[in-house]
Amino acid sequence: MQLNIGWLYPNLMSTYGDRGNVICLQRRCQWRGLEVNILPLDQENDIQYFHEFDVVVGGGAQDRQQEIVMRDLQGEKATIIKQKLNAGIPGVFTCGSPQLLGKYYEPALGKKIDGLGILDLVTKHPGQNVPRCIGNVAFEIVPPNLAEDIREMTGDCPIIVGFENHGGRTYLGDVSPLGKVISGYGNNGEDGFEGAFYQSAIATYAHGPLLPKNPFLADWLIIKAIEQKYQQKINLSPLEDTLANQGRKAILKKLGLMGNNR
Ligand code: GLN
Repeated sequence: MQLNIGWLYPNLMSTYGDRGNVICLQRRCQWRGLEVNILPLDQENDIQYFHEFDVVVGGGAQDRQQEIVMRDLQGEKATIIKQKLNAGIPGVFTCGSPQLLGKYYEPALGKKIDGLGILDLVTKHPGQNVPRCIGNVAFEIVPPNLAEDIREMTGDCPIIVGFENHGGRTYLGDVSPLGKVISGYGNNGEDGFEGAFYQSAIATYAHGPLLPKNPFLADWLIIKAIEQKYQQKINLSPLEDTLANQGRKAILKKLGLMGNNR
């Protein structure tokens, strides 16, 4: 078996270390003997890569880079991404990326950036003088189907931990939140929601990077990608995740959430 990992605009949307999500997916596939290719989905590479990815990763970026990305992510590229996410191709999108999957992003400076409209959400930056949402974030998974899958995989439904750093505040329309905030800001620091979840697309403000800190999410994405590509169920062999679990415990302890440790 072989998986193609699409990486959205790696040179523009890697400001906050989300390349770790690509590396985590790649290694967790390789450790199980799965062949993996990494396909840059950007303005410099062949548009054919957009047709070929089986799972997609989008990282975070500063407002200026997001504007540059959206100038390129139009036309056929936008159509392919929409079609594939609507069809259930899995992906993980962090911070600036989900902002671009939404209806629009109003940055602190400059014009409103129209998004792809795949996720029913909008993001508004309250201005450069308003403190950014920065710090550790922890949240419970909300979508029942995702929670059930994770429970089936791990025997539990662990708290997701990460680190957020965003100025934009995101407001959900008719789309499921990814999580219910336990600690941190989440989408906007007001409604208690974090991220969004649509088909098999995970949208979140949690950097960290997210997947090395929550390896069960990486495995969920790999399983979904294989199911979509090969139309077959698969059980992934367990990996040695002691280090990741120790890292999670350290964050949960720091947030005073060890009692909820999962
Ligand atoms: N530039 C966007 C914001 O400040 C996204 C930041 C990010 O990707 N971490 O909200």
